[in-house]
Amino acid sequence: MIDDEIRQMHWQTDLLNSIEVGIVVLDRDLRIEVWNQFMANHADKLPSEVTGQSLFSLFPEIEEKWLRSKAEPVFNLNTPVFIIWEQRPYLFKFASSRPITSDASHMFQNVTMFPLSSPDGTIQRLCMLVYDVTDEALRKLRIERLNDELKHMSRIDGLTGLFNRRYWQEQFDRVYKLACRKHGPTSVMMLDIDHFKNVNDTYGHQAGDAVIRVLARVIQKSIRETDVAGRYGGEEFSIILEDSTLDNARKVGERIRRLAEAMTVEHEGRQIPFTVSIGVSEYSADIASAMTWLDYADKALYLSKKNGRNQVTALEIETA
Ligand code: GH3
Ligand code: MG
Ligand code: MG
Repeated sequence: MIDDEIRQMHWQTDLLNSIEVGIVVLDRDLRIEVWNQFMANHADKLPSEVTGQSLFSLFPEIEEKWLRSKAEPVFNLNTPVFIIWEQRPYLFKFASSRPITSDASHMFQNVTMFPLSSPDGTIQRLCMLVYDVTDEALRKLRIERLNDELKHMSRIDGLTGLFNRRYWQEQFDRVYKLACRKHGPTSVMMLDIDHFKNVNDTYGHQAGDAVIRVLARVIQKSIRETDVAGRYGGEEFSIILEDSTLDNARKVGERIRRLAEAMTVEHEGRQIPFTVSIGVSEYSADIASAMTWLDYADKALYLSKKNGRNQVTALEIETA
């Protein structure tokens, strides 16, 4: 009989130690009673070193208040509790067994805690299972990062790094809806390079591209971080200016116009001058749609062109 029990204990201990999952048994005060080989290997602490000790004195990275609150229903409600890596990347700060080239400096873990009942039916211990989910977590994080990059790329114009027309338009529609509800002033700007066909014809298409790129940088430098600049078409740009009155917007436009005028773009040893025409309009409650609002800015731009180019026109909606 004793022999049988010893044999059974032996294979049970073998099982406990050969399994690739961390097994920890804790008493009600979260002191360690069982610590399997997986835990010993990764924590570099033998069962004899940890038995009877508090989890928190051995592993200061574990937030005591938080883990006690997680363990509470296991003891008092007799229910299992799960901690997944998306909530907390790990409970025990173990080094990752993955190559250093991967971006895991630590092991990602899922943790399950479930009650162990004593012969008298009370719960005096819990069992904690620690799963190494590093591969799964890395895969998921990599996909998320790729998705973020794709999302970013789908919004960006390749030549200038500004937002592309589709995304800019989405933002403009959103800002229009917001403007309908709030009272702060918002303006929109349309900008077009003057006689750009001449630039292409005189210096070549590549040179034209260089001018577009330089102008995009001028725009970016001249606006606030909260403003939204997009490449609306070939050599046309559109900019949402939040918290800007028509007069503010006109000043921003004037700054861009002056900077463009003062600048030459160097391409294959040649200096290319260029100017821009600009139209701005401010949101007003009379505007029935985002498109109408943008049309006013476009009309203002048309007036700048008509009146001789290289200028800014601010169009009052009432007088339009
Ligand atoms: P205006 O002052 O009236 O605006 O005259 P414009 O010559 O600029 O006339 P328009 O705006 O109609 O012409 C735009 C030209 O821009 C036509 C097209 O060949 C050129 N273009 C459009 N996209 C690009 C581009 O990505 N790169 C280059 N290099 N040229 C472009
Ligand atoms: Mg144009
Ligand atoms: Mg043009």
